[in-house]
Amino acid sequence: MAFEGLTERLQNAMKKIRGKGKVTDADLRETMREIRLALLEADVNFDVVKNFVKTVRDRASGTKVLEGLNPAQQIVKIVDEELTKTMGEEAVPLNKSDKIPTIIMMSGLQGAGKTTTVGKLANKLKTDEKARPLMIAADIYRPAAIDQLVQVGEQIDVPVFEMGTDVNPVEIVRKGLEKAAEDHNDYVFIDTAGRLQIDEQLMQELSDIKELAHPDEILLVIDAMTGQNAVATAEGFDKKLDITGVVLTKLDGDTRGGAALSIRAATGKPIKFVGQGEKMADLDVFHPDRMASRILG
Ligand code: GDP
Repeated sequence: MAFEGLTERLQNAMKKIRGKGKVTDADLRETMREIRLALLEADVNFDVVKNFVKTVRDRASGTKVLEGLNPAQQIVKIVDEELTKTMGEEAVPLNKSDKIPTIIMMSGLQGAGKTTTVGKLANKLKTDEKARPLMIAADIYRPAAIDQLVQVGEQIDVPVFEMGTDVNPVEIVRKGLEKAAEDHNDYVFIDTAGRLQIDEQLMQELSDIKELAHPDEILLVIDAMTGQNAVATAEGFDKKLDITGVVLTKLDGDTRGGAALSIRAATGKPIKFVGQGEKMADLDVFHPDRMASRILG
């Protein structure tokens, strides 16, 4: 289960002060030391942990909290609030264009869940808003990727624009956008190629697609199981593309929490959605406060 180790360790860290009517500076120091270790073990980015611990300690120390009523409860509340802040405070909605179509470009490393997420998002818009999306298959390097998107399209009854694997992806996107204009689609998803790691050629192609399509939203799909490596991935894509948001996938797995807790604080870019399973319905809006409660258990 996601965050299992982190939840247990955070609870243990706070259990020691829970029963106490009075919490001393030394108690607080010990609790913060354990919280720090719990976060590092969950693979949260070092700088994020450092800032988090400092902020909680600053807020909790001093007579107001330590000598006030229920100091332990107040510290738990501070931890909850700061976890929420670290993940971005508020849910951030999808960017939308004021004229159709809203163009959403999807990027990410291979296997992160990009194609699946395109389908999930198109399906969500179709269900929630009765939207009429078009999905463009621009991953020409993995023939199976096009088939996979076509299959997803059939499953959710959303059209897919594809030109096989012999046409330049930028050209595919150009033609796909023309088709969307003809058909008055209100959303266009561009499923781009993923690679095993960030490389110059991939990044250049994504930049070229961005320049042509002027997307309203550039979402980076990241596998939550990659822990704080997610930060390096996000920084790499962001530097080149200036991403507008992140979708964190596989939160139904036994991820330790590092990616969820690091990305926003380390990159400044919001996590907008989370994938919590392989089915088309398994996509949720990311709510930092709910995630903090889930982590605290
Ligand atoms: P892409 O290479 O980035 O396009 O990745 P795919 O969309 O092909 O997904 C890779 C694998 O991850 C597939 O087996 C998906 O079913 C799976 N997957 C994607 N999102 C999730 C998720 O939120 N939870 C789980 N458990 N599996 C997912």
